[in-house]
Amino acid sequence: MSEAQYYETRDLWSESRFQLDQERRRFAAAASLLPVSVTNLLDVGAGNGAFLRYLEDEGKALHLLGLERARTAIDMKVCHADMQAGSADALPFNDRAFDIVSALEVIEHLPYGVYEQSLRELERVAGHYILISVPYREPRRRVICPYCGCQFHPYYHMRRFDDAVMPRLFETFELVRRLEVGVEEYVVMPVVRAARGLLRRRVYPSSAICPQCGYTQADSAAPAVTPPPASSAKRLARLIPRYTRRNWIITLYQRRTG
Ligand SMILES: [Zn+2]
Repeated sequence: MSEAQYYETRDLWSESRFQLDQERRRFAAAASLLPVSVTNLLDVGAGNGAFLRYLEDEGKALHLLGLERARTAIDMKVCHADMQAGSADALPFNDRAFDIVSALEVIEHLPYGVYEQSLRELERVAGHYILISVPYREPRRRVICPYCGCQFHPYYHMRRFDDAVMPRLFETFELVRRLEVGVEEYVVMPVVRAARGLLRRRVYPSSAICPQCGYTQADSAAPAVTPPPASSAKRLARLIPRYTRRNWIITLYQRRTG
């Protein structure tokens, strides 16, 4: 049960994580795709309700509800809207119960079988629209468990989303709008990332939980993060040109008519 255990990690749901610039820009992009006609929204896999809180702060005139499986996330909720316990593959709602159903940074985490069933459930309870946000063309990553040698994605991302996949997520909904959200980084980063790819296999993130044996460094006294670079290195780094890497894609789907 490591996968479910992983999402109970308190660190995943801390309010500060969702104040990061890239998170705010992702929320803003998602909010910008909300059609003006919608009056209620269900956020599936709402986590600590950070997106709902964003909509509340923006003063959107919408009735909001969150659904989340991880008990820890609900306990740490940051929104005023109600949060209900539940799983994306068995939504406890009637057909077409909501004008729009959102699932932001959720479906990349869903295991085989659960993923397919969850997409059908989103389609079932969404009246008119579905809003999805996923990592865009994310490279497949693997870390090796230092305890048992098992290889796995450190954040439990189960699949890769690109332009071939996104229009085909739903049978009864069609993709009507899309936005890409990027992060600014140094132009040398793709090379650095490729070089680090091999090394990364040995670096086991502090939040990782091995799906095979359950090993996690969160239990040990090992340092959680690498120290920040010295200020002289930071000054040097500022001289390197930057570019925007498109990390996420946000898509809006509308129910097909007829
Ligand atoms: Zn292991």
